Amino acid sequence: MATTARDSILVVGGGLGGAAVSLALARKGFRVCLIEQAPEFGVIGYGIQLGPNAFHMFDRLGVSEAVLKQAIIPNSLLMLDSVDGGIIARIPTRASFVTRFKYPYIVIHRIDLHHILLGACKANSGIELMPETNVIGYEDFGDRVRLRTQGDECIEGAAIVGADGLRSSIRQQMVREGEPRMIGFVAHRTIVPMSEVSADVRRNDVVLWAGPGFHIVHYPLRAGTLFNLVAVFKTSSYLERGDIRSYRAEIERTYCNSHPSMKALLSMIDVARRWVISDRDPIRHWSKGRVTLLGDAAHPTLQTLAQGACMAIEDAVCLAQLVSEANGDFVSAFRRYEAARYLRTARVQFESRYHWDNFYHVGGIEREVAREIWSKRSEKEMFECLAWLYDGFALSQSAPLEK
Ligand SMILES: Cc1cc2nc3c(=O)[nH]c(=O)nc-3n(C[C@H](O)[C@H](O)[C@H](O)COP(=O)(O)OP(=O)(O)OC[C@H]3O[C@@H](n4cnc5c(N)ncnc54)[C@H](O)[C@@H]3O)c2cc1C
Repeated sequence: MATTARDSILVVGGGLGGAAVSLALARKGFRVCLIEQAPEFGVIGYGIQLGPNAFHMFDRLGVSEAVLKQAIIPNSLLMLDSVDGGIIARIPTRASFVTRFKYPYIVIHRIDLHHILLGACKANSGIELMPETNVIGYEDFGDRVRLRTQGDECIEGAAIVGADGLRSSIRQQMVREGEPRMIGFVAHRTIVPMSEVSADVRRNDVVLWAGPGFHIVHYPLRAGTLFNLVAVFKTSSYLERGDIRSYRAEIERTYCNSHPSMKALLSMIDVARRWVISDRDPIRHWSKGRVTLLGDAAHPTLQTLAQGACMAIEDAVCLAQLVSEANGDFVSAFRRYEAARYLRTARVQFESRYHWDNFYHVGGIEREVAREIWSKRSEKEMFECLAWLYDGFALSQSAPLEK
């Protein structure tokens, strides 16, 4: 039996969602045990974009200043045409954006964000960190819970928050469904020193090159010393494990008709590691008894809106608030939490799918039409399209509980 206090809330998964909810709960006075399968917390990381909605939550977690210190505020979000490099859409993200949304749009190294959240967790005596612990199942006894680990350990606590990502073992036991929905796209992520990047693509913007069945995203990190680059494309071999040569040949075939700047970007791509892109259908209920889910475990989304981590962080603050209001009644707090969150997170999932298929990856005349429409939108119109998302999540938006 592990040494954890029996009244601890057991958070499974030490990603951004798990770290955020541990901090949010501990700041409300709860004891938390944060359990991670990897030997170290937060070591993997590329760049991440965060909308202003994340800052409403960072304020509540007391980390906004630290995040801003490590972040870059880009000039704009820019969508470029993969054929001629022309502008399809541009959303300015400097002064007028901050005036409208009260907080900035930022890009940050995921490791830096993780370290800020984990640093705050370590500084809080209510949080115990438990690395190298792979959770394989749970039991809910009605008045307490127990986790089982691969090492045959049992960890007891008051409630469980499954923040264990897309392939959550907690969700698997609770919802009993199959694999995530794979859409036939893969991603290659890369970070290179800015000094290796040619001058024409070194810009302080989040740039998305859109083409038929593929896109590339890039932006600067760490005071402009690093360049974050992601290539995403459709391939029939998305389930096969290839080698560097076959991956490279596939990338060259996929992007053969694209703009010369895109080809230059692709030459920098790290082809060794590949992510298969997937999500799941939204669900209305992701809590059962004293067990609930958070972040990608609850509502995994395509990255079109760059909001997966933002939603996990919103979940975290909402969950802690409702648990704190429930005076130890985890069952009703978890039901209120999912009722408060499912419509907003489902909208992110659905809109991400819609824009993935109908905006990001269209070609030919369809892309020309998209360019005709979006390039003519005023800044005000662009901001209004995003207001539902970037204005943030308030607990008062919570829907009443179903009977
Ligand atoms: C290419 C790409 C780009 C993206 N860009 C953005 C972006 O710009 N902005 C944004 O907001 N989102 C973005 N996302 C989405 C974002 O990465 C995820 O939504 C976010 O990381 C989810 O956080 P999480 O904590 O829920 O899950 P995860 O980050 O997946 O963390 C889960 C943690 O649980 C641990 N774990 C898993 N199983 C177990 C187990 N059995 N026992 C113990 N521990 C376990 C894992 O090791 C991991 O540490 C992007 C995603 C991709 C694929």
